[in-house]
Amino acid sequence: MPELPEVELARQVLADALGREVRDVDDHDDWVCRPHAPGDIAAALRGGKLTEAHRRGKTLWCETENADGEPGPNLGLHLGMAGQLRFAGRSGPPGPRRFRGRDEKPEWFRFGLTFADGEQLRLFDTRRLSRVRLDPDLDALGPDAGEVSRTDFRTRVGRGRAPVKARLLDQSVLAGIGNLLADETLWQAAVSPARPVHELTADELTDLHKALRKSLRAAIKHGGVHTGEIIGHRRAGDHCPRCGAEMAHGTVGGRSTWWCTKEQA
Ligand SMILES: [Zn+2]
Repeated sequence: MPELPEVELARQVLADALGREVRDVDDHDDWVCRPHAPGDIAAALRGGKLTEAHRRGKTLWCETENADGEPGPNLGLHLGMAGQLRFAGRSGPPGPRRFRGRDEKPEWFRFGLTFADGEQLRLFDTRRLSRVRLDPDLDALGPDAGEVSRTDFRTRVGRGRAPVKARLLDQSVLAGIGNLLADETLWQAAVSPARPVHELTADELTDLHKALRKSLRAAIKHGGVHTGEIIGHRRAGDHCPRCGAEMAHGTVGGRSTWWCTKEQA
């Protein structure tokens, strides 16, 4: 599942589309493009261009301008559980291409922008949980997990009585943390995922903020959250790579969670 680092890498793909004239838009998938009807997004973007690519948490959006250079609607993109953005030539991908270890199937193509230079930016999604919409509502999202200040982090995460893992996953508190990044961050900070947030000290919250920034930087640099130090050890019988204690497993905040039995007790 794409988390903040994967979506940041997708934003960098999207940034390659900026400034090119949009010749055509394939918005045939009325589920992915809901509430718009097929043709609505095309009518809004055709002839214009994307001018800026933004991300907050796991939400992407582009500012646009129309053919006359006037500001157009924002184009919002959410990759859901399995969406990927990639460029292809006009004639489509030559030869067999692989998609997450399987041959790419035409029905996974959900949305596309064709540019005047013939290249097409395509959204592929095996699970059809991506969203494409004009002027997405960004108000429900908390600040981006990679940009939140230490003070703001401590206030937002420390409020309430929820287990800290559940609090980290709440997109209205911080935008962009998914299940793996939460486990990595809690392990880096040596904090138990089940600790109620009101029991965390100011120092522990500061350590968590530092661990989050460190985990995010490493994941973006190395290509995604799966490269985190604890991720490969999230399995039965494995041990903590820092202290050697056994890893434990349970459900916290409704999600499958792994932690070190010694340092995160
Ligand atoms: Zn340990």
